[in-house]
Amino acid sequence: MVMQIEPLIELEKRHLWHPFTAMQAWCDEAHEPLLMVEGRGCKLRDQHGREYLDGNSSIWTNVHGHRHPVIDAAIAAQLQKVAHTSFLGLTHEPAIRLAEQLCALFEGGELSRVFYSDNGSTAIESAVRMALQYWQQNGHPEKQVLLAFDQAYHGDTLGAASLGGIPLFKGSGNDFGYEVITVREMAEIAALGDDVTRRIAGAIIEPLIQGAAGMRIWPKGMLKELRAWCTERDVFLILDEVMTGFGRTGKMFACQNEDVVPDFIALAKGLTGGYLPMAATLTTERVFEGFLGAGKTFFYGHSYTGSQLGCAAALASLQVFRDEAVLESLPNKMEVLSDVLGQLSALPNVIHARQCGMIGAVDLVAQKDPAIGFPPEALTGAKVCQAARKFGLLTRPVRDTLVLMPPLCVTEAELRQMAEALAQAITEVCRGS
Ligand SMILES: *Cc1c(COP(=O)(O)O)cnc(C)c1O
Repeated sequence: MVMQIEPLIELEKRHLWHPFTAMQAWCDEAHEPLLMVEGRGCKLRDQHGREYLDGNSSIWTNVHGHRHPVIDAAIAAQLQKVAHTSFLGLTHEPAIRLAEQLCALFEGGELSRVFYSDNGSTAIESAVRMALQYWQQNGHPEKQVLLAFDQAYHGDTLGAASLGGIPLFKGSGNDFGYEVITVREMAEIAALGDDVTRRIAGAIIEPLIQGAAGMRIWPKGMLKELRAWCTERDVFLILDEVMTGFGRTGKMFACQNEDVVPDFIALAKGLTGGYLPMAATLTTERVFEGFLGAGKTFFYGHSYTGSQLGCAAALASLQVFRDEAVLESLPNKMEVLSDVLGQLSALPNVIHARQCGMIGAVDLVAQKDPAIGFPPEALTGAKVCQAARKFGLLTRPVRDTLVLMPPLCVTEAELRQMAEALAQAITEVCRGS
């Protein structure tokens, strides 16, 4: 069947409202949105049959490529049994097997309990609520404050957004029911007085690299320092590995680069290989035990908690990690990424090439030395990513930061093609300015 494109797009503009999207420009008659039709591996195809490389893993979600046969088959097999059953008062094998395997990914066994939810924001909210409730009912009612970092991004629901350090994503208010202290770096934490630290329930961080802030990489060793600080004061360390989890940083989890074990870890985007909306919050036996007994129950959950399909996809994704020795394949790819980032930074309008495992980024500037940025209202990063589509690459900027974060199955040739497309787009857009 040939897709009737024009009537579809008319319907789209009449009925849809997109996330993080200026809808007036979107609905403009001259704008023809891309309709994604199919994908395979790192490639996606649009309504006109044009092919693109998925340069940001469909916004940081896809891990092993699109239509991976093992994950496809696992979901199809699960559908032969049942798609979804409630996790309230019932359980099922895929959820049990997945919990066991997730815990086993952390060597010491400290993270022994898995709480499922639907997305990164709810995985964070689960952790924050658990941390706050834990202290309330376990002898430390004064511990009510969360410590978070400037420029942090932990999701868009009100509770998760209140931890954020990026004003744009916080909305009109920032008082969502609990107190948040925002700090910029370890030195500021060390300077906090006892009167403040005794009230801190947990510290939350995107380990190694802040994503939505524009791929800001933390100093080496910082996570370990934060862990030590938390341990000393009996403050929970909550890691947001929604973006960094499942191989992005070169290890299965970012915290494993610094041998850190948190009290909570939030996993989402890559959990199902990027197939289905599902999240998990892992925590320790200590926290779990703090919820045992009369009146201590964790009254929280979502309709699709422990989705059978999601669990089946996640189990298959972990299977692919093992069968294809995915983590072992990364060092070579990281070298290629480093090489192409170096080439990009040789361009006249590019500075600050940086890399954390399989995550690469560069910044656009009007002038290199001394560095002068483009005016924010010029939307240069967005224009470059728009232009990159012509050269066969899909990715999204964070302001004037350009991101390359391909599925882990990316080949050397595809990585080089992605960088080449980006280079052509940068040259085209920046030449005129
Ligand atoms: C994407 C993201 C979230 C939010 O996840 P959603 O599934 O979009 O709710 C939270 N934290 C980090 C670090 C993220 O990158």
